[in-house]
Amino acid sequence: MRGFLIGRWQPLHNGHLTIIREIASEVDELIIGIGSAQRSHTTKDPFTAGERIMMIIKTLKKYDFPYYVIPIKDIEFNAVWVSYVEALTPPFDVVYTGNPLVRELFVERDYIVKKPKLYNRKEYSGSEVRKRMINGEEWKHLVPKEVVDVICEIDGENRIRRLNKSDCEV
Ligand code: NAP
Repeated sequence: MRGFLIGRWQPLHNGHLTIIREIASEVDELIIGIGSAQRSHTTKDPFTAGERIMMIIKTLKKYDFPYYVIPIKDIEFNAVWVSYVEALTPPFDVVYTGNPLVRELFVERDYIVKKPKLYNRKEYSGSEVRKRMINGEEWKHLVPKEVVDVICEIDGENRIRRLNKSDCEV
């Protein structure tokens, strides 16, 4: 059985990692979709698809399960989005999402859709990690070490602070 999990991973955090590992233990192969792949350089979506791929692949290197990482750009056509996803990914049997729109679109196409359980949602959330980066608060313990390394390599913390400044100035 192959599972499909889609998220924006802005950035990948410890809650995501727990979900990925749990799902990987339920399926034979996992497809990790990088949603909104075209987006980057905003305070909500600071990291490029390539940077998010690095975060995922470096983090999962120490785990032994088969997975694919597929960047998926948004399209302004929800009614055909599932077909579009199917055209980009290996075939899958079950979808994992907490997003009501994603759930609706896949249920209408008769997929089994499961909602992953979230852990320590107060801290393990993409928006919390981004907020802490902007405010200069401690965030590194909320993400895998490999993600810290990628964000340091691309100077991501300063990027999101500069983006926040320019957002405020607009
Ligand atoms: P999202 O809708 O942007 O994220 C929604 C929020 O849900 C995030 O705050 C996320 O937290 C949180 N979340 C993650 N897992 C959850 C869970 N199990 N239960 C409750 N909340 C959860 O994006 P997404 O759901 O992460 O990814 C969906 C992607 O599909 C997006 O990129 C979206 O644009 C794309 N999409 C595109 C189309 C189209 O192109 N027409 C249609 C449908 C969906 P974290 O930030 O901590 O992850």
